[in-house]
Amino acid sequence: MEKEFVWQTEQFDDIKILRYRVPAFESLSPRERIFIYYLSRAALAGRDILWDQNNRYNLKVREALERIIRDYPGDRNSDEFRQFIVYAKKVFFANGVHHHYSMDKFRPAFSKAYFRDLLSAVGASELYAETERMVFDAEYMAKRVVLDEGTDLIRASANNYYVGVSQEEVERFYGDAGEVQVSRGLNSTLVKENGRIFERVWKVGGLYGEALSEVVAWLEKAMDYACNARQQEVIRLLVDFYRTGDLEVFDAYSIAWLQDTDSSIDFINGFIEVYGDALAYKASWESVVEIVDREAGERTRKLADNALWFERHAPVDERFKRSEVKGVTARVMQVAMLGGDCHPATPIGINLPNAEWIRERYGSKSVTLDNITYAYEQAASVSGVLEEFAGSEEEKRLVREYGALGSRVHTDLHECLGHGSGRMLPGVTAEALRSYYSVIEEARADLFALYYIMDPKLVELGVIPSEEVARAEYCSYIRNGLMVQLTRLKPDEKLEEAHMRNRQAIASWVFEQGREDGVIERVVRDGKTFFVIHDFKALRGLFGQLLAEVQRIKSEGDYEGARRFIETYGVKVDARLHQEVLERYEALGVAPYAGFINPEYTPVMKDGKIVDVEISYPADFLTQMLEYGEKNRRPESQGY
Ligand code: ZN
Repeated sequence: MEKEFVWQTEQFDDIKILRYRVPAFESLSPRERIFIYYLSRAALAGRDILWDQNNRYNLKVREALERIIRDYPGDRNSDEFRQFIVYAKKVFFANGVHHHYSMDKFRPAFSKAYFRDLLSAVGASELYAETERMVFDAEYMAKRVVLDEGTDLIRASANNYYVGVSQEEVERFYGDAGEVQVSRGLNSTLVKENGRIFERVWKVGGLYGEALSEVVAWLEKAMDYACNARQQEVIRLLVDFYRTGDLEVFDAYSIAWLQDTDSSIDFINGFIEVYGDALAYKASWESVVEIVDREAGERTRKLADNALWFERHAPVDERFKRSEVKGVTARVMQVAMLGGDCHPATPIGINLPNAEWIRERYGSKSVTLDNITYAYEQAASVSGVLEEFAGSEEEKRLVREYGALGSRVHTDLHECLGHGSGRMLPGVTAEALRSYYSVIEEARADLFALYYIMDPKLVELGVIPSEEVARAEYCSYIRNGLMVQLTRLKPDEKLEEAHMRNRQAIASWVFEQGREDGVIERVVRDGKTFFVIHDFKALRGLFGQLLAEVQRIKSEGDYEGARRFIETYGVKVDARLHQEVLERYEALGVAPYAGFINPEYTPVMKDGKIVDVEISYPADFLTQMLEYGEKNRRPESQGY
C-alpha cells in the first residue's frame, strides 16, 4: 500500500477529483512508451470538438474563464472569486456549461456585474456580451439533452448537433434512407440554410477540420510504433476515415479494431457514443489509450486453466455439475490517457463497436479499465466510509491492506468461473425462473466466488498471498450487502436492481443462519449499527451451503424456491437501519460524481530524436485544464 500517492486531490460541489496510476507503463519498452505518447497526444487533440458539440457557446465561455483565471490581477481570495472558480471548475469538468450527468445548466453563484468586472480587468470585455446570456439566463438553453415525450427534442436540447432543424425534419432526413448499413449521421452536423437541409461532415477540410488534422498528425506519428502490422492497418483506416468522413471506412476501421486482440497497447479514438443526442444519431468525440494489464491477465489465466478443478470441488450436487468447463480470460487494461468525452469523467468498462450489424456479424471487444476502478477504491478508502461502517479495528486493517485485491479476485472468480459453472437438469430452461432468473444467476456467481476465495487452492495457485485477502472480501461483502449499498436508495424505496438484491439476499441469509452460532454479530454502539464477523470458516461453510441451494434452484428451475429466497431476503429494506445508514453517510459529505486528472507524458530527446518517454502524475485539476486549453500544436512544430 502506497501512502504517499494522493488519490483524491479535491472536492467541489457534487464532484470529486481523483488521480489514477499506470503501473504497466513502467514495464513497457521505450518503443511502446513512445507509441503511448503519440496516441495520448491524439487523445487530447480532439478536446475542442467535444466542447463545441456539447453547446455552441462552450468554447467562448471557456475562453472567458481561462482568460480570467490566467490574468486576473485583483483579489483572488474574495468570496465572489471563489464562487467564480467553483463555477469554472464545474464547467471544465463537464466539458461545457451543462452538468455531465443531469444535463442541467450550471447556475453561477456570482453576479453579472462581477463577471463583467473580471473580464474588463483582463482586457476581454468583448467576451462579456458573447457569453452573458449563456452563463446567466437560466431558461436559455437550460438542458443539454431533453428526452421528454411530447416536446421537439431537437429544438429543446441545447447541444450543437443540429442547426435550424426540427425533430420532424431530422427524422425525415435520416428516416428515408431505406436499407443502409452505415450509422447515418454519426459524424456530421445537420444544418438548415435557406430552406435547404444538409450535413456538414466532421473531417479534415470540413467541420472540425483543424482539430481533426491535429488528431491525424499525431496518429500518423503513432503508426510507426504500432504493436504489429494489423494494428498499423487499424490506425491507417482511422486516419483515412478522418480524412474522408466516409462512414464505410469507419465501419472497416471498427471491424479491424475489434479483431485486434493481441496488441499489448490499444486505443479508442473517434466519434463513438450517441448519448449526447436525443435522437441518438450524432456521436461525441472521445479517446482512451490503454495498456494490457499482464498481472491481471495472468490471474484470470490461472483460474481459467483450472476451471475443471473448481467445478469438481464445488459444494453442489453432482447432478448439477458440468463434466467440461472452459474458463473465460478477461481483457483487463490499464488506462494510460483519457480524452474527449471520456475525460474527466470516465467509464470503467467499454464494449465496442456500437454498430449493431457489426456486433451481429463480427462480435465486439470488451475491456475493463482496471486502474480506474482501483483509483475509485483507493479514494473511497480515505472517504471515511470504511471507518464509519466497519465493525472493528481488525476489519479496517484487513480491508485497507487486502480489500482492493479481494474485490478484484472476487470479480475474477465471478466472471471467469462462476457464471460458466453448473448445468441445468435435462428439460429445464432459464425461462423457468422467469423474473428471478438474473438475480438467482448473479447470486450463484457471487456465491461461487465467495466460497472459493477462501479455498487454499487460491494461495497454492498464487492468485492470493494469504487467506487474509478472503477475510477482507468477506468483511466488505457483508458490510456492503447489509448496510453501505442502502445509500443508493431513497427513503421508502425497495431493492429493485438484480445485483443489489442478490447481495442483500446472500448477506442477510448467512447472517440469519449463523445467528445462533454467533458467526456474524449485529452490534449497536452509540446508536450506530455494525456487523462483526466472528467465525470466517463457519461463514465460508454457509456460503457453500447457500451455493448448493441456489445451484439446485437454477438446475431444477424451482421458481417457487427462487421467489421465496429473494422475496424473503433480497427485496425489503429494514427502514430504520436504512434511515440510520443514510444519515451516517450524509454526514461524511462524500461527493457522488468523480473524474480524473490525467498523467503527463514527457518525451526524452537525444540528438533531436525521441528515444523514450517519462510519466508523471500532476496533482492540480485546474492547471491541467488550463494546459489542455492552450492550443494543441502539431507534432512538427514541436520538433518530433
Ligand atoms: Zn455477473
